Amino acid sequence: MRERHHPSLDALLSEVRACRACEAHLPFGPRPIVRAGIASRILIMGQAPSASVHTSGIPWDDASGERLRAWLGIDIATFHDESLISIIPMGFCYPGRGAGGDNPPRRECAPKWQGSLLEQLPNIQLTLLIGQYAQRHYLADRSKPSLTETVKAWREYAPHVIPLPHPSPRNQAWFKRHPWFENEVIPQLSERVASLVALAS
Ligand code: SF4
Repeated sequence: MRERHHPSLDALLSEVRACRACEAHLPFGPRPIVRAGIASRILIMGQAPSASVHTSGIPWDDASGERLRAWLGIDIATFHDESLISIIPMGFCYPGRGAGGDNPPRRECAPKWQGSLLEQLPNIQLTLLIGQYAQRHYLADRSKPSLTETVKAWREYAPHVIPLPHPSPRNQAWFKRHPWFENEVIPQLSERVASLVALAS
């Protein structure tokens, strides 16, 4: 579906894409990867792009994205329909890699951009908080001491917000240790997403 042109959101997105605020801390340089449509009903708030997403410029264009789409029960075209789904991570640029894997999202990013972007998205009905950074930022004192406890308490936040673990293949052990997640949370999540997709079509 083509979306109506929206000058203020377009202008804001242009400003975001030109951002160089934490360039000195980005080993691969700035490449903000963010997607927002004024009509979108679903917001995906993740961590930061991976190295392959940094290369392609396409959000969730990696193994984590494949698993996320399976959780949501949607195909790739629906996932990339910005009139339905906005994708606004905690850090918009790939933060590079440290000893324990990818570095955390740059801390400058969310305070600089999240508020003004979310103000431009009046139709969001479901926000997916993927990983501890998004959960702590968005839920603040409503988040639990650990990601597992926050995800396990998902009913406290639903139907408008659903906290999720990161769908990275590196989290296989977590998925195995917590079978309730795929048995209880995923069916509810995909049902909620299907109802919002049906509303939009
Ligand atoms: S991570 Fe965010 S604040 Fe830093 S350069 Fe990229 S868009 Fe700007």
